[in-house]
Amino acid sequence: MREAAELTQPTTIELAPARRGAPKHCGWCGRRLPEGGNVGRRRRYCGQSCRQRAYERRTALQRSGLPEDAVVLSDTEIAALQDRLFQLRCAAEDIVTAADDGADVRELRGLAEEIARAAKDLEQLR
Ligand SMILES: [Zn+2]
Repeated sequence: MREAAELTQPTTIELAPARRGAPKHCGWCGRRLPEGGNVGRRRRYCGQSCRQRAYERRTALQRSGLPEDAVVLSDTEIAALQDRLFQLRCAAEDIVTAADDGADVRELRGLAEEIARAAKDLEQLR
């Protein structure tokens, strides 16, 4: 009986914030949503065009038989994402190399800033 009750409320799990204070992201493009403004329904998209494209994708998914919360990325989008993940790894490896070579704090800080920048770019999916 308990399992059945849990199955009827999948949205409560989906809507729970992953981490307290973690930024919210647009459900389509992944851009950070502005903070605050907790009036009415929680904002899921950064704008009307993202809302529309997410709606179109959802409708297409319903026809395809894939789960509604499936994330579908095109070959181009996946390739771009992999490129950016590779850049992120290279930036991380640069820090390891620099630390092994006895780099000073200022240099390490600069490299860490590059990683932070690359990771921030990655938050944007499309
Ligand atoms: Zn968006």
